[in-house]
Amino acid sequence: MKLTRISPSQIGMLGKCGEQYRRRYVEGEILAPGIAQIRGRSTHATNEKNLIHKLETGVLLPLDEVRQLAAESVDAALAGEFVLDGDYEEVGLTAARGMVKDEVISLSTLHATQLAPLAEPEAIELKVEVPPSDVLPVTLVGVIDLIDRSRGVRDTKTAQKSPNADAAHNSDQLTTYDLLHRAHKKSPPAGLGLDHLIRTPKKGELRVVSQETSRTIEDLGVFVRRANAAVRSIESEVFLPAPQDHWACSLKWCGFASTCPYFRGRPRPTT
Ligand code: SF4
Repeated sequence: MKLTRISPSQIGMLGKCGEQYRRRYVEGEILAPGIAQIRGRSTHATNEKNLIHKLETGVLLPLDEVRQLAAESVDAALAGEFVLDGDYEEVGLTAARGMVKDEVISLSTLHATQLAPLAEPEAIELKVEVPPSDVLPVTLVGVIDLIDRSRGVRDTKTAQKSPNADAAHNSDQLTTYDLLHRAHKKSPPAGLGLDHLIRTPKKGELRVVSQETSRTIEDLGVFVRRANAAVRSIESEVFLPAPQDHWACSLKWCGFASTCPYFRGRPRPTT
């Protein structure tokens, strides 16, 4: 198989599970999103519209409009196919619909009141294509969520608890954003970091945790070597399944598990 393009998310999936990659990108099986994914995507879409408005007009959208956009985004996602997963499965469909809408509205409001006022957007959802070269023989394609004039490259996450202290330092996604920024702008970003929008599941407490980091040329070299290994693996059609005890190899975290020949499907007996 000859590969011409690769994205950071493809490299990430291949690193987690080759079989998952094969089913998604070779067989073309696209799974319906889980509600937890819908929560992240709808919050992301609402925040993005607010920041685009700021980029174009200099001001943020009114809060009422942000909440309305959040609710509409969830309604649109739930009008399509989706999977009732994770904690949402336990409460049932009707309650899950209300839960996810409340969560997206509160997380989008948190972003609009605490993060968006600080933002000085220079580019939003910037697609970057790095052409093939001696360094990587295929086109690397990625999308940088936000380039901020003073805070640099940012990625916003939604979560139900505080992140690990080293989440930004270990983020492969930020490494690729740094590389894409250098390729596009011919310079490193002014800053690099994650902004976590957190809403606790039981009490609905809201907070923002921001983490700053940076990348060296050696960090980028590691990413490029991993990308080359991914290209060789795909072109050789070698797709190793995840280890059986990998956290992602489960019905909860892998949508292919119920039909995967490499999935154990039942716990080991205890003695
Ligand atoms: S069930 Fe496990 S081996 Fe199968 S695709 Fe999912 S993660 Fe990979």
